[in-house]
Amino acid sequence: MRNFDTLVVGGGLVGSAIAYGIARRGGSVALIDEGDVAVRASRGNFALVWVQGKGDGMPRYGAWTRRSADLWPDFAGALMDRTGIDVLYERPGGIWLCFDEDEMAERQGLMARLKAKAEPSGYDYEMLDQGAMSRMLPGLGPDLPGGSYCPHDGHCGSLHLFRALHAALLGLGGRYLPDRRVTDIRARADSFTVITSRGEIQGGRLVLAAGHANAWLAPKIGLRAPVKPERGQVLVTERFEPLIPLPTSHVRQSHEGTIMIGDSHEDVEFDDRSTVQAMAHMADRARRIFPFLARARIVRAWGCLRIMPPDGFAIYDRSPDHPNAYTVSCHSGVTLAAVHAEKLAGWICDGALPDEIACFSAKRFAPAEAARQRRTDAHVL
Ligand SMILES: Cc1cc2nc3c(=O)[nH]c(=O)nc-3n(C[C@H](O)[C@H](O)[C@H](O)COP(=O)(O)OP(=O)(O)OC[C@H]3O[C@@H](n4cnc5c(N)ncnc54)[C@H](O)[C@@H]3O)c2cc1C
Repeated sequence: MRNFDTLVVGGGLVGSAIAYGIARRGGSVALIDEGDVAVRASRGNFALVWVQGKGDGMPRYGAWTRRSADLWPDFAGALMDRTGIDVLYERPGGIWLCFDEDEMAERQGLMARLKAKAEPSGYDYEMLDQGAMSRMLPGLGPDLPGGSYCPHDGHCGSLHLFRALHAALLGLGGRYLPDRRVTDIRARADSFTVITSRGEIQGGRLVLAAGHANAWLAPKIGLRAPVKPERGQVLVTERFEPLIPLPTSHVRQSHEGTIMIGDSHEDVEFDDRSTVQAMAHMADRARRIFPFLARARIVRAWGCLRIMPPDGFAIYDRSPDHPNAYTVSCHSGVTLAAVHAEKLAGWICDGALPDEIACFSAKRFAPAEAARQRRTDAHVL
């Protein structure tokens, strides 16, 4: 049986960021992953590092997101220094697009509410009318009434981020153990044995970051992670010269030149297929946003399942029964990668989650609340 100081279960963006952060503090770390057959959110996202619109109903989540966005430049730089991999992070600000006057009014209300309740880190934004938005987004269609601009927003290459996190972990002496589905956990006072499809692995500390699998793994260490799938479909065009200078809520241009068109929000349980209906809707909307996209060729499309806590905010817990065991479940694993690696991993190493993130415990979900309708797309980018 192999033995490590820390076992992180789940090698998606969340587990990889935490494993990297823990490995930097020293000690042996194993990142255990089910492999390519698993349901994975990390390989199908929109790659936004996005602050605006988040935290309605939990201002601390807005501040947490902002903190991550502020850590991103150094986080990306450190990954570059360690691995030579550019994660293509840029922070030109981002625009949330509104499609009619009702949406515009709703957005204005949301942004004002978030600013009023923001923690001292603040919440900068500007509502844009059609003219102002067109100046920032050349080629914008004429019939969008406006949107909101936030300077804290940015985007990255999320597959590059994935590769950099794994390379950094390996460079620090960590182990990546793929093709090992964890089927059970035996928890003792000072150690954990993780039973996988390819044998048992032992560790002194355990972090569950297995995306959807946290829902059934967490109870094995006395915790809850009531996450649900929410399908998001994305379209990708052929490459273009730089046309879209900053990311928007529905369309962004990647560093490579492809234009990503997103993304649906569908409650279809664990069905991650693409559908013509959703693709047609997104393509129509994209044409309205940027009429030049009418002639763009779509080269790829996918469906992928978001990992959604009932209220859309993150879940971080330390087990009351097994103090060296933790769960981490969230949507927005790209945005939060920096704060996961730079802050959360350190707190896990120190053996305590501070009061400032106590609000993220799954204790906030009364059983009835866990079944509540998930929030609208304003909170879930
Ligand atoms: C369409 C879409 C758009 C998105 N856009 C954005 C965005 O713009 N910005 C943003 O910040 N976030 C975005 N996200 C969310 C982001 O992709 C996720 O938050 C993030 O990838 C979650 O990572 P994760 O590591 O928790 O989960 P996953 O990527 O699902 O990783 C979980 C890992 O656990 C492993 N695993 C599962 N079960 C087991 C088991 N039993 N044993 C061992 N290993 C196991 C799997 O192999 C997998 O690798 C988007 C998501 C979607 C679907």
